Parts: sequence; C-alpha cells; structure tokens
Amino acid sequence: MLKEALKKFWGYDGFRPLQEEAMRTVLERRDSVVILPTGGGKSLCYQVPSICLPGLAVVVSPLISLMKDQVDALRACGVPAAYINSSQSPEERRAVSRSIEQGQLKLLYIAPERLVQPKTLEYLVRSHVSLFAIDEAHCISEWGHDFRPEYRELSLLKRQFPQLGVHAFTATATPRVREDIAVQLGLADPVRLVGSFDRPNLIYRVERRDRLVEQIRKVLDQHKQETGIIYCLTRRDGDTLHLTLSGLGYRTLPYHAGLSDEERHRNQDAFVGDRVDTIIATVAFGMGIDKSNVRYVVHAGMPKSLENYQQESGRAGRDGLEADCLLLYSAGDVATWKQRWGRDETPPPDGALESLDAMSAYCVGAVCRHKALTRYFGQELAGDSCGACDLCLGQVDTVPDSLIIAQKILSSVVRQQERYGGDYTALVLRGSQDQRIMQNGHERLSTYGLLAQESQRTVRDWIEQLAGQGYLRKVGEYNVLEVTPLGRQVLRGQATPRLLKPADIDEKRTKTGFSKASSSAKASVAAESWEGVDRPLFDALRQLRRKLADDMGVPAYIVFSDASLRDMARQRPQTLDEFRKIRGVGDRKTEDFGEQFIELIAESTGN
Ligand code: ADP
Ligand code: ZN
Repeated sequence: MLKEALKKFWGYDGFRPLQEEAMRTVLERRDSVVILPTGGGKSLCYQVPSICLPGLAVVVSPLISLMKDQVDALRACGVPAAYINSSQSPEERRAVSRSIEQGQLKLLYIAPERLVQPKTLEYLVRSHVSLFAIDEAHCISEWGHDFRPEYRELSLLKRQFPQLGVHAFTATATPRVREDIAVQLGLADPVRLVGSFDRPNLIYRVERRDRLVEQIRKVLDQHKQETGIIYCLTRRDGDTLHLTLSGLGYRTLPYHAGLSDEERHRNQDAFVGDRVDTIIATVAFGMGIDKSNVRYVVHAGMPKSLENYQQESGRAGRDGLEADCLLLYSAGDVATWKQRWGRDETPPPDGALESLDAMSAYCVGAVCRHKALTRYFGQELAGDSCGACDLCLGQVDTVPDSLIIAQKILSSVVRQQERYGGDYTALVLRGSQDQRIMQNGHERLSTYGLLAQESQRTVRDWIEQLAGQGYLRKVGEYNVLEVTPLGRQVLRGQATPRLLKPADIDEKRTKTGFSKASSSAKASVAAESWEGVDRPLFDALRQLRRKLADDMGVPAYIVFSDASLRDMARQRPQTLDEFRKIRGVGDRKTEDFGEQFIELIAESTGN
C-alpha cells in the first residue's frame, strides 16, 4: 500500500534508508522520533502514510515559507494539501476549514503557536485527524541550536489526542536532543529511528583562505548556470563579495539582516525561482528553503560550530545528486567569533568554545571529512576512503616525513610526562624560551627544539591532526595531552599518521589545487548521475521547466527535480507510458506535463 502510493503520487520506485520503517510506524499509530539527514526524505515519511490512512494528517512546521513550498509540491503531485497561517486572508482560511469539513484534505500544515490555540484544538477534535507530524522537532529542545519556546506547548498534543500517533522529525540531533524531544513531547515509548548522518553525495573540501575571490571563482566557474550559496561571517564581507563577483559578471545577490524585509524576500524568491545563480548570505539564509538543486555551498569563513556547518552545507544536494561544499578558513576566524562574543559583552553561550574548537580541529584535521563529521554526531563510518572529500581524493598534500614528525611530537608528550596541553608542547618542540619551559627545565628535554624550523601554527595543527586520528588524547579541563595505545604504535614505527603540509609555504597547491581537485572528485561521485545524460537536451528541458514553473508561480523544482530531468535526458521517453517510468514522475505530473516534455524530447531527437 505504501509502495503503491509512493509510485502513484511521487513516481518513486523504492524507499530511502529507514523511510519504510518510519512509514510503518505511522500506520501503526505508534509515536516516533525520526532523525534523518537533510535530503534523507523525511517529509515522505508522514506524507505517504497520510494518504493510506483515513482522515487528516496535521503537520507542525515552524516556517511559513516552508509550508507554502511543501503544499505546492504536494499539490503538484496530486495530493490534496493546504496550510493555515497568518499570511492568509480570513476568507482563505475559511476555505481551508471548509475543505477539512468536507473531508477533502489529506494534509494540513500549521505553525505551532496556531495549533495550540484552544479554538484550533477544539476544531481538530471535531475533525477526523489521522496523525500529528512535527517537523524540525529539535526546535523543542533547549539543547538544540534553534530552540523555539512555542514548540514547548506541543506537549499538550499527547494529552488531548492520546489515541493518535505523534511523530517527531529532524535532521540535527545529538543523543541528548533526541531524548529531550521524546520527553518534551511526552511520547509514549516511541520508536526511535536514527539514519546515517553522512551525506555521500556531498564533496567536502577545506582550504585555507588565501585568495578568497579566486578560490570562490573556481567553484562558480565549474557550476555555470547552476545555483549555490556563499556564506560569509559578516554583512560587510557579504556586500563586498557581492560587489566584486557581480562586477566580474557573476549573477549574485546578497541576503542579510541589513537589507529591508522586502529586498530579502525578493532576493530569496529570485534564488528559489532560479533567476539568480548565487546568494551571498550570512547565516540567516536557508532556513525554510527547500530548494533541492543547490549544487554548491561555499563558506567564505569558518562557522561557529560543526552543527552549523552540517546544517548550512547540508542545503546542497538535497536531490541526492552530487554537490560541492567548500570551506575556506583562516586562523583569524576563531578570533572573529571570540571577539563577537566579547563585544556583545555576553559570555559565549554554554559549550560554545568547545564547539568552536571542534570546528577548527575539523578545518586543520587530516581525517576523512565524511568520517570527521559523522563521528562528531556519534556515528562511525565504515570503509577506508569516501571518494568524496579532499583528503580521500588525495587533493591535500601531506608531509613526506609524517612518521618522523609524529614521533617527535609524541615522544615530546611522553617526555613532558603527559601533563601539558597542545600550545605548550608546540612551544617545547619549537625551542621557545618561554618562562614556563625554563622553570620546568624542559629546555633540557631531548625533544626541545626538534621542530624549530616550523611555525607555531603548523606544529599546533599537527598536534590537532594527531589527536583527530586517535594518536593523542586530550584529557580534562586543560586538554592535557596523552599518548594513546595507537600513538605508542607510531613511536615503535608500526603505524603512520597523516600530517598535512602547511598551506602558507605551498604556493603550488593553492594555485592549481581546486580545479584538479574538483574534476577528479566529480569523476567519482558524479559520473553515475550524469551517465548517458544528453547535456543539451537537459538544458532544454530545464528551460521548459522554468517556463512552466513561472506560469504556475511556483519554484522550478516543484515541477520536476534535477534528477527527473536528467533521467528524461537519459531515457528520452516517447510515449506517456515511458514518461510515467521516469524517476519522480507520478500520475498527476504525467497528466499535467507529459505531453509538453515528450514533444520537446522528440524535437531534439529529430535534429
Ligand atoms: P528532508 O526533509 O529529509 O530534507 P525531503 O523530504 O525534502 O528531505 O526529500 C528530499 C528530496 O528527496 C525530495 O526531492 C524528495 O522528493 C526526494 N525523495 C524522498 N524520498 C525519496 C525516494 N524514496 N526516492 C526518490 N526520491 C526521494
Ligand atoms: Zn573522505
């Protein structure tokens, strides 16, 4: 039944990981907490069963813009859905009520603050509700990164509707947040489904920021006429970059809190409607945008935590096709964040400094990016090489004598009796005259000055890299370094760590690195998705999609995803039956769009 609905309305042949389990839980009316990465297909987990169950599914969603997109997308697939929010006129809202009363709707999107109003609740008690789905459920937890007090009231759902299943969905949740969601909602023995946090179709790359504009242009040039986002740390950086890039002929628009509401909306709409290629934004951008064909996300500066990075970079490649995520950082970014906290005269929020540390360790780290990110969220990825990050693709230069350097560092830690942190250890290795070193008599250690020719920054980064790969452990409040059993193997020459070449002395790499880099990354992740695709036809199909979307006043991806267009440009369907078999084409879209696309495909085949 689930499978039939998936095919009929969405045109998909199979489930993504955990989708089927999540849907069955909904059918069984058991409560659930479902954690799936962005693009993992959370919405379908409640949308598909809502079609199979009698009655109306109520979806709690925090953002008005998101509601409209979701409802437009559902309607385009032939699913009767609506939303109720403050952007509507009273008449529009009454029309929605009427269609609920007539039992015509399958899904209703609503904001939490409206849902918990006594009037709404009374109304829902009288209507035939099938289930409650809570989108962005981490908003209920104070431990999450986006706490919204109005979510707290949702605990009354279980009290008022004890017989109905309440289902919480989110992409970002540490184990603590996950448990908190279940507790705050008062879920009864919920089924917990936690997907992999890995996004295998994202190609992660980290570079030191030394020629910002050039580094960014390389990404833009590889994604001509494709859309993406560039995140900047400050408005000023964003404005400067926008002026520079648009001056060079790139189609960019800014988005930040300094613009008027109207201008922000206009720029966001242009992005969603594919009328601009690149949005240059501060962190405010992206929440509530469901655009599935974002092909790159560049960070012009280091975000303040890996949660933020995961979420922002995660806006790329929701359609499951490959996308580039480039993070440009400099050592100064850490200081920028600390200054910001200092300037507002508020101490950094709880745990903020630890988050910042983890973020900068990721930047200088030598662990596969996919592994490092999933590990941060408590999951270990199997396999040696992800084939989709700068490190695994061999695009980052390592120092040839990694083993010897690592042995010098580890043996210094041992000789310092494992009682000091990373900064101090680096000072000893560099032969510093620091007073503390003299007081401790550490200038007499045999490791003193062994790395005197390297910069403090470089040695410090190497220490982080050794910790990241499990050769050193940081202990206690002061992050005292200890050598792990794995580290002892290095001392005996039985294991070789990977240490990165410092970027500042490596001119060659930064000049040529990215283009070389990207083409080979593309080869591994993208080959499959572009296999057999007729590029000119794909571009023609894209134009038709844009025209149809503009006529309907919806974003292009609501007509068809990039994945569907690629499949069309691969299969070249000639009849409606063949068209119906294209990925992401259900009954309704075949009826609404089939003939126009088939005609275009026939034309292009004819010449
Ligand atoms: P999330 O909310 O988890 O970020 P979405 O529900 O927006 O993800 O789904 C992301 C994209 O993947 C959408 O374009 C959706 O249609 C598509 N999708 C979801 N499930 C499947 C599936 N089983 N097969 C193919 N595509 C899917
Ligand atoms: Zn990797």
